Amino acid sequence: MSLLSLLEHPKDQAQKLNRRTFMKNLGLAGAVAATAAASQAVCAPHVWAQGRTYNWRMATTWPRGLPIFHDGAERFAREVEARSEGRLKIQVFAGGELAPAFDTFDAVSKGTVDVGHSVSFYWEDKIPAAPWFSAVPFGFNAQGINAWFYSGGGLKLWEEVYAPFNVVPRPVGNTGVQMGGWFNRKVISSKDFKGMKVRMGGLGAKVLTRAGATVIDVPGGEVLAALESGKVDAAEWVGPADDLQMGLYKAAKYYYYPGWHEPGSAIEVIFNKNAYDSLPGDLRNILDDVAMRNNLWTLCEFESQNFRALQTLVSQLKVQLVRFPTEVLNKLRKFSEEVLEEVAAKDPVVKKVDGSFKAFKKDLDNWGYISERAYYEFMAAKPETLEPWIHETGEI
Ligand code: CA
Repeated sequence: MSLLSLLEHPKDQAQKLNRRTFMKNLGLAGAVAATAAASQAVCAPHVWAQGRTYNWRMATTWPRGLPIFHDGAERFAREVEARSEGRLKIQVFAGGELAPAFDTFDAVSKGTVDVGHSVSFYWEDKIPAAPWFSAVPFGFNAQGINAWFYSGGGLKLWEEVYAPFNVVPRPVGNTGVQMGGWFNRKVISSKDFKGMKVRMGGLGAKVLTRAGATVIDVPGGEVLAALESGKVDAAEWVGPADDLQMGLYKAAKYYYYPGWHEPGSAIEVIFNKNAYDSLPGDLRNILDDVAMRNNLWTLCEFESQNFRALQTLVSQLKVQLVRFPTEVLNKLRKFSEEVLEEVAAKDPVVKKVDGSFKAFKKDLDNWGYISERAYYEFMAAKPETLEPWIHETGEI
């Protein structure tokens, strides 16, 4: 199976796969019949297990067609079907089609669906440690959280945390540093959050609550309506590529940065453990490999699409781009540290996860001071390579 063939239209692939699977099954059936005649089919159960076709259903928290997120879920399903030569088919449903978007985890846990595509911080009411596997305010960027997952024990901890819910997690994407959100009121001081109604999820919501805001979370498909109706004064979603497509610029004047609350949010694919364990080993390996491939693909898409979308927002749609004042970021970071300590003090699982997270991040921060920081500081000393309008953005 070539990389190009993975990009074919799903219907074309399905037709080819159906033919191939049909022919393969014919071959297998012939082999089984011959073996049965010769040796009373001692090996037949194994052969049939390898040839069985699995039809799975995936629930997601995304509106249908949402760039990179829902596209990513469909791409995951398409690649699994192609790599398994049609033996594992996954039908993808958008948020609300099979279950309400925020019921995705429960649906996977109970086995109502076999697989889900979402972000872990949506489950924090049920699992206080869950946000550590997607986004911690002022925490890891994409590079850092992937290093923690794959090389620092983070994924093993994530599996432990989800195991009591009969769910197996895998990282399947990352947004990179998000934007700070869309505001209809200026944020000149940290005191400006007092009384502000903000759409935000995860640990960032707890931080803004501490800053005096009233925070609500709504699924992606409802963010624009919440902003337009005045249900919220401000809303964060993701970054330029998705925010542009969602039309959030129609409902707010100021587009703030940086996304202190989500500096590199991991996207998850989650499997019902019974369904995952029932697969032959090669199909489980395919799920794991395709998850890792899509983790890289997703980050590459965000990195390649965000600036072009930002240029459209600023140059054509006249969005005002504003950096959060340093005083605001300093205060939010202080609140974040307090929130993390409080959540960890209440829950031994969070304490264990946060301990691993912080120890790994300390090493990365020290290394990053020598590596990334020195490099970016040097590169920033030649600002003439940047678009002129980038220089004009700043605090107001
Ligand atoms: Ca977000």
